Amino acid sequence: MTRLDLSDDAAALTVALCNIQSVSGDERRLAEAIELVLREVPHLTVDRDGDAVVARTNLGHDERVVIAGHIDTVPLGDNLPCRVEEGRIHGCGTTDMKSGVAVQLRLAAHLSAPNRDVTYVFYDHEEVEADKNGLGRIGRKHPEWLAGNFAVLMEPTNAIVEGGCQGSLRADVVLRGHRAHSARSWLGTNAVHAAGDVLRRLDAYQAEEVVIDGLTYREGLNAVGITGGVAGNVIPDECRITVNYRFAPDKSEEQAAQVVRRVLDGFEVEISDTAPGALPGLSHPAAAAFVAMVGGEPLPKFGWTDVSRFSALGVPAVNYGPGDPGVAHQREEYCDIAPIFECEQKMLSWLSG
Ligand SMILES: [Zn+2]
Repeated sequence: MTRLDLSDDAAALTVALCNIQSVSGDERRLAEAIELVLREVPHLTVDRDGDAVVARTNLGHDERVVIAGHIDTVPLGDNLPCRVEEGRIHGCGTTDMKSGVAVQLRLAAHLSAPNRDVTYVFYDHEEVEADKNGLGRIGRKHPEWLAGNFAVLMEPTNAIVEGGCQGSLRADVVLRGHRAHSARSWLGTNAVHAAGDVLRRLDAYQAEEVVIDGLTYREGLNAVGITGGVAGNVIPDECRITVNYRFAPDKSEEQAAQVVRRVLDGFEVEISDTAPGALPGLSHPAAAAFVAMVGGEPLPKFGWTDVSRFSALGVPAVNYGPGDPGVAHQREEYCDIAPIFECEQKMLSWLSG
């Protein structure tokens, strides 16, 4: 088995981590290598569930922070082993997100007396269907492993803090009519024609901008699909418009549903699925200290990410990592070395002194 060397610097460690291939579902070798080296660190206790490894300090501090990253990658694109050139590491997993994992491992190994207790989470199956997600599995089976006051997910963000994430709701607006032969259309009621009123209502709706902890979340309520029609000679008796509402994380799923029902008042609305947002939690002392230390303006996260899994457990969370999200999942994936050291340095100063 390839042995990881935690005395390597974070760039060399990124290369070593990437060269142990770990496409989703095939993380065992890497999970074992990580577990092996962490078990040798005297100030950590280590747990393992499937191909997830969780290590923690137990210093009795009032505050505990969680630093998490996934160890799987998307399928290779003929881009391993890594190639290092002019301050840049090329290869699958460099940006998303083994450079972040390398920083986690360096912190875990070398911060023997952090100023807050720290839990380091290395998990499997992030790049595939949500029900396989290792972080979700730990949250269900061992929620106490993820307990903390604040969490940092070291996903690629160009070393900028991205706080929270928006929630998402999908619903169908169902329009009903009366079926008839299209040659005698006056005997029917056309459900597809009724869609016009719904679409005009959606088009006119001004989505909210919600400021939370200084971050502006831009909401959106949009039609994302429409179906209707029976045959070329039939007046349709049903039409469905699928709408998607991306809502700021200060709204619950129930409140989001109320907004959609209010905007579409008078129409039949069937909510089909919802996912809650995640509050950035930047006003919490550990989070505020983190943002102050990292510097720069935090940005809101618009998509849905694993920070929501922490949020669901009552742990506010942000994304912060060295990689460039723009090259994630590309054949040309790479990570610059300078931001890897910068992230490590900033995390170190946040957690020491
Ligand atoms: Zn990722």
